Order: sequence, then structure tokens, then C-alpha cells
Amino acid sequence: MKKKLIAGNWKMNGSLAANEALVRALINGMGQPACDVAVAVPAPYLAQVAGIAAGSALALAAQDVSVHEAGAYTGETSAAMLKDFGVRYVLVGHSERRQYHGESDTVVAVKAQRALAAGITPIVCVGETLAEREAGETEVVVKRQLAAVIHLNGHCISEIVVAYEPVWAIGTGRTASPEQAQQVHAVLRAQLAAASEHADRIRLLYGGSMNAANAAQLLAQPDIDGGLVGGAALKAQDFLQIIAAAQ
Ligand code: PEP
Repeated sequence: MKKKLIAGNWKMNGSLAANEALVRALINGMGQPACDVAVAVPAPYLAQVAGIAAGSALALAAQDVSVHEAGAYTGETSAAMLKDFGVRYVLVGHSERRQYHGESDTVVAVKAQRALAAGITPIVCVGETLAEREAGETEVVVKRQLAAVIHLNGHCISEIVVAYEPVWAIGTGRTASPEQAQQVHAVLRAQLAAASEHADRIRLLYGGSMNAANAAQLLAQPDIDGGLVGGAALKAQDFLQIIAAAQ
């Protein structure tokens, strides 16, 4: 059976002092968890967190990666650079990147490709906006977003993680019900199964206001293999409770 994955997304939060306290509390609190655990930290803090988490069960994740391999791309961070710092996972296509940085499905697919080529697992985020859900377009949107990644990455698709994050649930305190989330996860699983004989081993995370109170029910759904956690990942106790719910 595949292990669940609980990944925290710190977004643009943190400081040297706050990161140190949070990472130490997580490492001490979780011991050897039954699930995989990662934190996606802002790029300037990758080295710090890599140092503190070395030898622990906490894996390092990045929040973004460049579409370019190297060169004159001011401000960008390449997949090879992330690999240098021991990064295991990288978020690609988070809705905040799609919304505020205009990232298209193709850009997201290329980022996933860069990560895979560097030996980093991309966590490919998909999800519909509230307007799209209300227009009955949820399936069409998430299938289109995932199709771009499947198309470009072909047989490597079994090496990715997918995170279903309804945009209306991110940072809003409004969580998809376990049934709503499971319904979309089943659609994504079927799409992956049509593309890969290993679809069963691809982890599908739910993200969007997951917290200590709702995690267990979400994680009990048959096609929910973990969580991508924003706000609740900034509080050690909350994040530890979500990790415990994923055992
Ligand atoms: C996220 O940013 O990926 C996320 C799920 O945020 P939150 O848990 O705060 O909704």
C-alpha cells in the first residue's frame, strides 16, 4: 500500500527564527511517522531547513521551479539548483502561481518536466475556481490541467504527485466536503489510469483549508492519498495533528 503524503506549503511566510522553531517542533513531534511528510519553504530558506531537517523524516520541498534549465533568467531558480539543496518535491501550478503569475497549463507541464529530469517529484496542483464550479465546469477544468502534464511527461507520469486544490477552498476556511473531494479525485484517478498502468501508485493529495479537525475524514476517502496544507502548516500542533490523521 502506498504511504500517504502530507505536504505543508508555507507560501511567503517565515523567518530564520520562526523556521527553526517550527521545524524543530515538527521533527520532535512526529518522530517516525507512518506517512511521508514534507514542507515547501520559500527558496531563501531551503538551505536552512535542509540543515535542520537533515537525517530526519521531514523532506524538503520547494514552491516553484523555473521552466528554463539555466542562463539569463534573472530571479529564477532551476531544478538543478533545487536538487543541490536536497529538495525532494516541488509544487508546480499552484493556483496562486496560475492566478498572479499567469502560469498556463503548458508552463506548468514544462515545470513538471524540469523537475522530473532533475530527479525531483513535482506536486502538480489542479483545481477549479468558484465560478467554474458553479458553472458545472469542475471536471473539464481539472482534466484539462492534468492532461497538459500527462501529454508532456508521457511515461514519467507515474512519478508525479497530483494535488487537487479547489481554488475556492484555499485560504478561505471553506473546505470541500470529503464527498466533493473524493468525486474529483476519482475523476483524476481515472484520467491517470488511462495514461499509465501505474496510476494506482500515484498519490493524489487534497488541498484547501485542510486542518486538524477535518483531515481524518478527508484522508479516509479511497482516492485521497494525502494533503497539501497551507495555513495549518504554519502551526506545529495543527500540522502534527494532520500528520497523525494520515497514519
Ligand atoms: C495551499 O496553499 O496549497 C493551501 C491548501 O492553503 P490552505 O490550506 O491555507 O487553504
